[in-house]
Amino acid sequence: MNIPFQITDTMKTRLLKTVLKSIYYSGTHKLMSADWQGAGLIYTMHRVNSQPVPAFAPNRILTITPQYLEDIITQVLDQGLDVVSLDEAYRRLKEGEFDRRFVCFTFDDGYRDNLTCAYPIFKKFNLPFAIYIPSDYPDGDGELWWVALEKVISKCHKISIEIEGKNRTFSCASIAEKWSTFNHMYWHLRGLDEEVLRAYIRKICHQHDIDMAAICRQSIMNWDEIRQLSDDPLVTLGAHNKGHYALAKLGATEARREISEGLSKLQSELGKKIEHYAYPYGDATSAGPRDFELASEFGFKTGVTTRKGVLFKEHVEHLMALPRVSLNGDYQSLKYNSVYLKGIPFALLNRFKRLNVD
Ligand SMILES: [Zn+2]
Repeated sequence: MNIPFQITDTMKTRLLKTVLKSIYYSGTHKLMSADWQGAGLIYTMHRVNSQPVPAFAPNRILTITPQYLEDIITQVLDQGLDVVSLDEAYRRLKEGEFDRRFVCFTFDDGYRDNLTCAYPIFKKFNLPFAIYIPSDYPDGDGELWWVALEKVISKCHKISIEIEGKNRTFSCASIAEKWSTFNHMYWHLRGLDEEVLRAYIRKICHQHDIDMAAICRQSIMNWDEIRQLSDDPLVTLGAHNKGHYALAKLGATEARREISEGLSKLQSELGKKIEHYAYPYGDATSAGPRDFELASEFGFKTGVTTRKGVLFKEHVEHLMALPRVSLNGDYQSLKYNSVYLKGIPFALLNRFKRLNVD
């Protein structure tokens, strides 16, 4: 895989940021037709906390501050949108009820700060939200390999790895070198089959004395904590596979097993039916039409991706491939959110196609 010429998610994010800025400062979002704002949107988030951010922290894009979350909720409500549960979003899509636009807030992976920092905010506003859980994570067996990679690069001065059959050594002495090495290795790993990726990261962690299970137990809620949330009708819990494997990187049998085992474990731990699903990673290289088909076998009401976009009435025919809008910790700006709510950047990124499900 030739990293420098690959259009990565990071590049797409940078492009989106540039598009957002130019739309906001040119005032285009105020001029363009309301047709592109759609019926509503589903936000993707991961972590909410106000911990200090070190100079090398590539995963900081996954964290927003509690203040930013409050500001986003306030902005959404001020603009007259309804904040609804996934069940209600499903009902509105199914019944074609589009007289009021709506927003769903969703979190992926089950980080502990969802309980300690995000939950009190949603409680205060009395608003619903959802969390998608890979079932290995609350067991303490999750492989948050992107966090592990950050920790390895953070602590070492150089790293030797095999890429495409060749031994390569990357320097990680300076902050700039750490960023460059992370970006190179992260996108290399994302291009590998899941089993190869996991074997690779386990080896690197072993070499550099990083305990992935400890990272999981430290940052992810255990089952008792998840059950506290599950008892509150404001919270929807959704399935997110067993080991957070990208379905598209697996054969059909393994992909089906990933969904099935994750779902069964979640249902038995929580004692309730789970009706919503999120594809791990969720981009087009991680979940495609075959996977939308596979997930639909499990009877979920909705399946969400991380393909960027707002919801249109046409999505009722594609309930297992819903787009989302990511709240990125790297640019926590209400200006950008006001542009998101108009749907314009997604119309441009998706070349004015309402659906992006191929
Ligand atoms: Zn995830």
